[in-house]
Amino acid sequence: MAVTQGHGNPHWTRDETLLALALYLTLDGKVPSPRTPEVKALSDLLRSLPYHAEAAKQPTFRNPDGVGFKLMNIRQVATGKGLGNVSNMDRQVWAEFGQRPDEVRRIAYAIKDGITVVGSEQLPEVEQELPEGRLLTSLHLRRERNPKVRKMLLDDRRPAGFRCEICDLSRLDLEQPLQEAIFEAHHLVPLADAAERKTKLADLALLCACCHRLIHRAMVSKARWIGLVEARALILPG
Ligand SMILES: [Zn+2]
Ligand SMILES: [Zn+2]
Repeated sequence: MAVTQGHGNPHWTRDETLLALALYLTLDGKVPSPRTPEVKALSDLLRSLPYHAEAAKQPTFRNPDGVGFKLMNIRQVATGKGLGNVSNMDRQVWAEFGQRPDEVRRIAYAIKDGITVVGSEQLPEVEQELPEGRLLTSLHLRRERNPKVRKMLLDDRRPAGFRCEICDLSRLDLEQPLQEAIFEAHHLVPLADAAERKTKLADLALLCACCHRLIHRAMVSKARWIGLVEARALILPG
């Protein structure tokens, strides 16, 4: 159940705040009137996102005025000026992404793209959002759990024997189905960087379930994407 604030509208999620930041970063520090096409377009986009299906039925939900207020809040965080109702999410997203406009733009495009994939289906609650936010996290997990992707990776690694690409774990003593139960596909390319949807073998690493959990957790706690080399340094005993 989403928490509500102000006029009964739910708090802005990380994804929504990132989309507002993406617009803010194109504005040169000037917040446009709610009647401008950019603000209207962002309002329409936010109202179509699959997070707040119930709330989005209300005409006040993420309407152009609300988007205008959010842009002012972001400007306040960015400049330290103004008297807005700045949220922790505004501060957090600014701290992580305020100086990375290219990445913000890529993520915003990927979220818009992702919406065409998920349509209006309700997003699953994810245990932890990867740095890219909830929609891209759920698409990342869906991509990794795709049976075709998993099979492609297992078929490729089977001849040499399954081995975790972080910790080196292998259990060649076990029967094949038990061995396979240990391993998961991890996608190495952030969705925001994946120009094409189709997953290639080179985009994947075979990880034991434990290391897979840890690399995702590390990305959440560091709020950025982490590759295998860094993951090894973080996870393996020193
Ligand atoms: Zn491992
Ligand atoms: Zn993964």
